[in-house]
Amino acid sequence: MSLLPYARRGFHYNNYKFYLDDRFGERVQRVSIEGGFTCPNRDGTKGEGGCIYCNSNSFSPPYSDRSISIQEQISDGTRFLNGRFRADKFIAYFQNYTNTYAPLNKLEKMYRVALEHPKVIGLSVSTRPDCINDDILGLLKDISNDYDVNLELGLESLRDRSLEWMNRCHDVKCSLNALELTAKYELDVTAHMILGLPTETRKEIKEMAKELNDLPLKFLKLHHLQVIKNTRLAQEYARKPFQVFEYGEYVKFVADYISLLKPEFILQRVITSSPDDCLIAPKWPHTTTAFIMDLQKYMRENNIFQGDKY
Ligand code: SF4
Repeated sequence: MSLLPYARRGFHYNNYKFYLDDRFGERVQRVSIEGGFTCPNRDGTKGEGGCIYCNSNSFSPPYSDRSISIQEQISDGTRFLNGRFRADKFIAYFQNYTNTYAPLNKLEKMYRVALEHPKVIGLSVSTRPDCINDDILGLLKDISNDYDVNLELGLESLRDRSLEWMNRCHDVKCSLNALELTAKYELDVTAHMILGLPTETRKEIKEMAKELNDLPLKFLKLHHLQVIKNTRLAQEYARKPFQVFEYGEYVKFVADYISLLKPEFILQRVITSSPDDCLIAPKWPHTTTAFIMDLQKYMRENNIFQGDKY
């Protein structure tokens, strides 16, 4: 337990919130920004139609709107998050689509505009492994001299057949190359992983947890697979339903998955939550907050800690 510096208040794993609390000495929230990006997997450069599960509306918070300026989005977002969480410091989070998919000078301008806000103390950029290069990483490194910088890479799976199934239009080798390149810049990197793909057995997903331990990553963001309306996955699911995680099964599964992870990882998320009106499956009876409490309870009752089986 002493090996887990950001596990407290009943958590048996390193929780990103406690990491931020320690790092900044106060509550810090991410404020999502809609930068108006597109994605090479949507505009035909790499593919068309996007990943099988992609519907960007499912992950846009209410204040994030590409029709208003970045400054206005941050003002609206920080007001909203201050009211909800009493947070007064924020990380500008470029979340939707592929947030490095633009010319370098445009990227720099957008990132720096966000960082000009007096309450923004960091930058988080979500992107695909095939959309980074030395110039972009150099820019992020430069920004990291003055701000907290987190690069979030959508790896999603470490199996080519899964990436192919979901129409990611990049392979595992591409993800590993991106991580190798990123490691040279010593940036704090998140791997975004989807748990519960129908192309993978539960056993195989846990094998991938062990494989993540050997990669140059600081954070993990875990999402269970959700079927969202108006996606190709929804069509596939309607045509031939596949198994999705039941609520109780996912509680136990994630607990076991976390026990396989090395104690240094910090978990930014362990569950995803899409708006109810977008979601087809799985429909769970409890909220994200209830899930986190149930996960803690299960890990406590069964004496399971992150790193136990590392
Ligand atoms: S890479 Fe991201 S934005 Fe692009 S299609 Fe896939 S999920 Fe959507």
